[in-house]
Amino acid sequence: MKQVYNFNAGPAALPLDVMLQIQDELLDLQGTGLSILEISHRSKEYENINGETQQLLKELLNIPSDYEVLFLQGGASTQFAMVPMNFLTGGRKASYLHSGTWSGKAIAEARKIGETAIAESSEADHFKKVPNLNRMKIDPETAYIHLTSNETIAGTQYQNFINTGEVPLFADMSSDILSRPIDVSNFALIYAGAQKNLGPSGVTVVIVKRKILERIPASIPDIMNYRIHANKRSLFHTPPVFAVYIVNLMLKWIRNNGGVKAIEQRNYRKANLIYSTIDKSGGFYNGLAHPESRSMMNVTFSIFNEGIEKHFLQEAEQNGFVGVKGHRDAGHLRVSIYNAVTYEQCQALTDFMLDFQKRFG
Ligand SMILES: *Cc1c(COP(=O)(O)O)cnc(C)c1O
Repeated sequence: MKQVYNFNAGPAALPLDVMLQIQDELLDLQGTGLSILEISHRSKEYENINGETQQLLKELLNIPSDYEVLFLQGGASTQFAMVPMNFLTGGRKASYLHSGTWSGKAIAEARKIGETAIAESSEADHFKKVPNLNRMKIDPETAYIHLTSNETIAGTQYQNFINTGEVPLFADMSSDILSRPIDVSNFALIYAGAQKNLGPSGVTVVIVKRKILERIPASIPDIMNYRIHANKRSLFHTPPVFAVYIVNLMLKWIRNNGGVKAIEQRNYRKANLIYSTIDKSGGFYNGLAHPESRSMMNVTFSIFNEGIEKHFLQEAEQNGFVGVKGHRDAGHLRVSIYNAVTYEQCQALTDFMLDFQKRFG
């Protein structure tokens, strides 16, 4: 079997163990004689998968009991619209922290629904840092505050969060959910497309405080209404059965690997290995993000000479390193080292980087 080093930004690497299990039970799901691809979402088997997956997420992330876990469709991009449709109501104003491409898209959607302000922005710094949360003024009348915990394209990440008191804090955690422990109680709503850290594309996880569901107007379409999905336990309509099943396996894999704290330590070692290779290169490699805002998930960097950078990409591809090209908005290079990427794969990359530098530095 041909195997490469997968540093894709999303959809991204899945653990080999998880894929082998999918393969193993594809034709016969746990003795039912049916495939996960052909069972009813109203079956006992799927009810169990649905309930167990919610429970696993609650345990792994230490989600308080007054929160709901939802499995929705349409990706994080649908959440950019759903969040303001549900909560930018009553003539109030939403407040967004602008940290790059993804928050920009969230802001653009919110502006179609209602009054939207930018509380803090790092655009003037070319998104090399995350906007400062402590500098933000919080108006108690704000409908909600929205941030992007990890900016996948710029390669920046919040290291700490704040408690915004009575004003609900919402977060797009698509590219760093379950990569580290977080205090869920700081947030009224968290959403994440699964295809970076949680599983395949096709399902979006939403963690929402039950209390704020009361604010949702009845006038919005049911399919876009969080309260409807919560009341129906994510079975309002046909859910993405296969994707939720893979998230289930992925969560068990995280549990079997010591839980989120252990995953965080592993992620820290992986990121540290690559960043220190960049920092010790004497300016051959340069990190794009400000050191204080560096992401543990997406390492963005450049090479001092554009021609050599092109050559790096060619050689990386020849040597089986996939997904190393930066997003077109940031350019240069990016390696995504989500939960499923191993330390050994990061080691192979840094060995390659060191060898390349020796030859071209
Ligand atoms: C990938 C990504 C998105 C977009 O997700 P889709 O599922 O493609 O809609 C949104 N926000 C962040 C932070 C992302 O990394």
